[in-house]
Amino acid sequence: MNIVLFGPPGAGKGTQAILLSKKYNLLHLSTGEILRNEIEKNSNLGKNIKEIVESGKLVSDEIIIKVLNLALDSNEKKEYSGYLFDGFPRNIDQAHLLSNLLQSLKIKLDCIILIDVDESVLLQRILTRKDIEGRSDDNKETLSLRIQLYSRETEPLIEHYSSTHIVKRIDGEGEINEVNQRINRFLECL
Ligand code: AMP
Repeated sequence: MNIVLFGPPGAGKGTQAILLSKKYNLLHLSTGEILRNEIEKNSNLGKNIKEIVESGKLVSDEIIIKVLNLALDSNEKKEYSGYLFDGFPRNIDQAHLLSNLLQSLKIKLDCIILIDVDESVLLQRILTRKDIEGRSDDNKETLSLRIQLYSRETEPLIEHYSSTHIVKRIDGEGEINEVNQRINRFLECL
């Protein structure tokens, strides 16, 4: 099974991605996580992107495809039953990059899941996450830019995919397990 997870910052993509990748044995590819690891390692790439990521802007598509390819190369594909893309694609050019990537992997997307959470809930979630994870891009100012970028660049992809793919909107409010069950119920009907 190959899935793309969409949702605004704070929707719970990362949390649900971890649960789903375990349950369905998927290779979880979180571009945000990969970039944060590079920053943590203080690698050359990490040094170059630190400011961009911390300000809530998007890093270049070239960097994204490069880190995705590196992550794909360093994982034993045969171990997994599919891929879970979390945080990619973020814009129309990245949607084209994903389409090329899928072709080269000789796989198709089974569905796109949009985790839907009202904007009023996002700030509280992000502030709670900041206390737990200490992410430096989790603050009120950065969140507003990230939401703007999501609405402008990423949300239009839902429309882009809905003519060719199954796009499922899942209510992302409530407890983690409740949201997870909603997603599982949908996936089991595929
Ligand atoms: P996320 O963990 O998905 O919320 O991503 C955290 C940050 O990493 C974003 O605000 C961007 O700065 C960067 N990022 C993650 N994924 C992408 C992507 N596909 N394209 C560009 N920037 C990204």
